[in-house]
Amino acid sequence: MNPSLMLDVVRIKSGLTNCVHVVYLTKSDLISLKSLRYSVLTYMWTFDPITLSPTNRLSFYVCKDKEKALKLLRRIELLERNPTKKNVKRIIKIEGKLLGYPKCCVDRFSNLKVEGGSPEKEIIRECVESGLFLEILKGYPNPELPEEAYSIFTTNFYPCGIDCGRARKIGKSIVEYDERYGYKIVLSVLNLLPPVFEIYRLKPKTEFGRLIHDFVESLKDLKPKAYQIAKKMAENPLKFEVDYLKAVLSDMHD
Ligand SMILES: [Zn+2]
Repeated sequence: MNPSLMLDVVRIKSGLTNCVHVVYLTKSDLISLKSLRYSVLTYMWTFDPITLSPTNRLSFYVCKDKEKALKLLRRIELLERNPTKKNVKRIIKIEGKLLGYPKCCVDRFSNLKVEGGSPEKEIIRECVESGLFLEILKGYPNPELPEEAYSIFTTNFYPCGIDCGRARKIGKSIVEYDERYGYKIVLSVLNLLPPVFEIYRLKPKTEFGRLIHDFVESLKDLKPKAYQIAKKMAENPLKFEVDYLKAVLSDMHD
């Protein structure tokens, strides 16, 4: 199994969710999953609750209890036919439930989304202000995880705040179950760097733009390292993830 998928499945194995969203599956991954009695569900969105526009985006979900997952996906399918604000909120909440995300985080995310806010911006601000980005960058590729990091336990999940106790507890439980999962958390934090450098490049004359500018400048010697990570990640996020995991996991075995 590719290392990215192997660690995604750890979330199911640890008992914290029935289902995970995966981005990359090879034929041999599918065979391994089947032999381990996991199901893979493919879902085609007609309305994207993230961009709030029509789409034909595909999502792949790996799950333990297929029927339970299908039940939730069928509810999403019905709501998508009439994507009112209220229904979009519901869709986001059901997908959050499917993926085992804490209710407080999903509620906040869905409210921000339909009101035109940016959950990504909020979390980036917190990563800057708490020093989380700095700590991860300093220690990269093998950083100690600060407390705040645990709430960002997977990519595309936005905790209601990096101090969310429920999200942190999930992150910590997964790492306690399998310490290798810590590297997935590192990746989830680093995944927020490409937008940081994009904002730095565009220099918007907003309070947020200034915050990002000052943060990047404050990195000093770490700036080239951070820039390289952001660049590689933006070019090919999956390759970056797999290369990184292969490197750190093989070091671990030595
Ligand atoms: Zn929360």
